[in-house]
Amino acid sequence: QPPASGTLFGHPKGLFLLFSTEMWERFSYYGMRALLILTLVAATESTNPGFGMSNGDALLTYGYYTGLVYATTLFGGLIADNWLGQRRSIIIGGILMAIGQFTLFAATPHSLDLFYVGLGFIICGNGLFKPNISAIVGDLYQPGDARRDGGFSIFYMGINIGGFLAPLITSSLGESDAFGWRYGYLAAGVGMTLSVVIQLLFAQKYLGDLGRVPGRILSHTEAGTAAPLTKVEFDRLRVVLFLFIFVTMFWLAFEQAGGLMSLFALSHTDRFIGTFEVPAGWFQSLNSLFIIIFAPFFAWLWVTLSSRKIQADAPIKILFGMLLTAIGFGFLIMGVFEMQTSPGSKASMLWLTLAFLFHTFGELCISPVGLSLMTKLAPVKLASLVMGIWFLMPAVAQYLAGFVGAYSDSAGDNPAMVEFAASLGVRQADAGLLVVFGGIAVALVVFAAALWL
Ligand code: GLN
Repeated sequence: QPPASGTLFGHPKGLFLLFSTEMWERFSYYGMRALLILTLVAATESTNPGFGMSNGDALLTYGYYTGLVYATTLFGGLIADNWLGQRRSIIIGGILMAIGQFTLFAATPHSLDLFYVGLGFIICGNGLFKPNISAIVGDLYQPGDARRDGGFSIFYMGINIGGFLAPLITSSLGESDAFGWRYGYLAAGVGMTLSVVIQLLFAQKYLGDLGRVPGRILSHTEAGTAAPLTKVEFDRLRVVLFLFIFVTMFWLAFEQAGGLMSLFALSHTDRFIGTFEVPAGWFQSLNSLFIIIFAPFFAWLWVTLSSRKIQADAPIKILFGMLLTAIGFGFLIMGVFEMQTSPGSKASMLWLTLAFLFHTFGELCISPVGLSLMTKLAPVKLASLVMGIWFLMPAVAQYLAGFVGAYSDSAGDNPAMVEFAASLGVRQADAGLLVVFGGIAVALVVFAAALWL
């Protein structure tokens, strides 16, 4: 039962507590993520030294890390459902992530091994935190409560306010020679600490008993039985699994954001406005900024479509999301063409900005919609597990995204790719970018067509 602490803007007050907790956690996550690839590739001998990896190795490392960050959500969901309950999982996960961020602060740039230890803490902590906080949002609403989707839209705002502010702060610190990478991680650690403190101080008041008891025990007592899943529950789980492949393809494309697109910002984009050089990490804020601007429009669009009886079920939205994302890659390809104008030419910031805009449109068709859908499709006793499966989609995707991104580093060695690029007037050094951006765009269209069928 949701607590009786009253409502705010028509939603249970607990929503705003979860909003704040998640906002600071995402501040921490996206703040460090914006720096990760940049720290890995920064030369060891420089005014702001990093770990001196090649682009390819850094993209692979980035893929393993972000993949694992989301993969552990499956275990976090299981652990909460069976033993800890969601609330305790959130606290423990949050503390682990804070330790991880402070470890990154201590490790950079001296010890790559210690840096990996820090990443490990964040991986484990996120597994406990992310699926469970999302599942509690769903628990605030009774089945059939029409406010649920709206609640998730508000929650998603919290995610993106954190995601917007964080890279601005962490990369201003991290990319400046005066501070250095490690101070970005320190800021991320402070954000994570705030998240935990907010949760510790206010959860009892605004969430009452929500998420205290593990779902397994809850479903026994509430339904009075440990019955196997019903046919309807099974069918619903099959929907989740069917959507898996398409949503995964979407994230594979989308999650080039903090990897290859970040390197594209760093090395191939003209980031000067007059004499001011925009830090490469700032581009990581665009996605969240666009979410904040356009989420209300999309929320309005879904309501309007359904009131006009236009069929806009989750699969249709996913299909459009993939096509919009493909358009985003089209803009990146334009950027690669612009780089061919003369030997030192870089791409205008416009291309990266438009790409993030269309990727955000894609995300808005898929991610909040899917998050809410999962809490509707999940049987009570598997609530957090299904949430874990939802985050397994970006997990698999990010792991694969690392390989796809890294191919941009080696495609220039493949004569067929080089010849293909040359036929379009793209030089060998940029063949990899063209092939990867173009390949992803084509794959998205093919998957969208398959989903349509
Ligand atoms: N940007 C969203 C978040 O951080 C979605 C991430 C995801 O599901 N892969 O929660």
